[in-house]
Amino acid sequence: MTTDAREFCPNCGDPIENDPAERTPLPDAVGKRGKEQKLCDSCYFDRFDLVEAPDRIEVLVCARCGAVHRGNRWVDIDARDYTDIAIEEVSESLGVHLDAYDVSWQVDPEQVDQNTIRMHCQFSGIVRETFVEEEVVVPVKISRQTCTRCGRIAGDYYASTVQVRARERDPTSEEVERAEEIANEIVEEMEETGDRNAFVTEVSETDDGVNIKVSTTNIGKKIAAKMIEEFGGNYSDSETLVTEDEDGEEVYRVTYAVHLPPYSPGEIIDLQDDDDGPVVVRSVRGNLKGTRLTTGEDYEARFEEGDAPDARRLGRVEDAEETTLVAVEDERAVQVLDPETYRTKTIARPDYMDTDAEMVPVLKSRAGLHVVPDE
Ligand SMILES: [Zn+2]
Ligand SMILES: [Zn+2]
Repeated sequence: MTTDAREFCPNCGDPIENDPAERTPLPDAVGKRGKEQKLCDSCYFDRFDLVEAPDRIEVLVCARCGAVHRGNRWVDIDARDYTDIAIEEVSESLGVHLDAYDVSWQVDPEQVDQNTIRMHCQFSGIVRETFVEEEVVVPVKISRQTCTRCGRIAGDYYASTVQVRARERDPTSEEVERAEEIANEIVEEMEETGDRNAFVTEVSETDDGVNIKVSTTNIGKKIAAKMIEEFGGNYSDSETLVTEDEDGEEVYRVTYAVHLPPYSPGEIIDLQDDDDGPVVVRSVRGNLKGTRLTTGEDYEARFEEGDAPDARRLGRVEDAEETTLVAVEDERAVQVLDPETYRTKTIARPDYMDTDAEMVPVLKSRAGLHVVPDE
């Protein structure tokens, strides 16, 4: 070093003994903080802060569901205790001086009361070959509010209604229960992907089915589609203008009307223009498919009949009664006790019947006495 290279502190004018350029270079600091780099050590440390911290931090928490407001949205968290959240928020808000290296730090929470945590943040590091440490205290206030989702739930908000109905009959209790289950399953799946806007607003059973109000039209559509996939039938949708939002956009509510087919699995029907005996319905997805009670053979409705061939309703598999199997006559006939008269009767022997059984389920209907499949 020569006297020609001597520099002076731009703040106090003292000569600087060490050429700043010879100091340990810090990749992040060099260049960026060139002005400060030129100060003498005394002036530099006078104005030096190792840590930059906010005066206070507020953590918004939903009082109903525990979600935490971060950035500009609500996020679900697992913790019931917000200390960890407070530590995280504080850590993210702290800035360490770029000239420091070998920085180590520690944050100790001090619970002041239910909604206040005082964070003691200790930092140390090496700056200009000097060990520096600093403690800052950041008060964290936990503010309890209501998140968007909980606000909507509380306000009975919904964007879509699924109406589950059946043609020429009422939906069965199985169909109604399943509709509700499907709605909850779809909402759960969406919640698992982090979607906070998915919820079931209301399920109400009506005289002729069930109405399910949900938070988005997408969920409504999914429920309708899944019902059709499982139970057959079809659905239609219709929009109703409810309001305009703050941007003047029109807001619609969509109603999905699910029309389940007239016959449901387990129903026993007597087809018109057909003498081959009653049919127990197995499926109504696409064409109606079933099993003949007289033989056990398969039946499938013609394409033009679809899921609704002309038929009379005789009853359901659940209506069958157990009766004594008296004798197996031959390939096509068995003798059973008529459950009403207790007389022995010869009836058709379907191939699904267990010939070793002592008791078999039978249905007595307008079409006669028939052995039905075990449920
Ligand atoms: Zn100076
Ligand atoms: Zn909430």
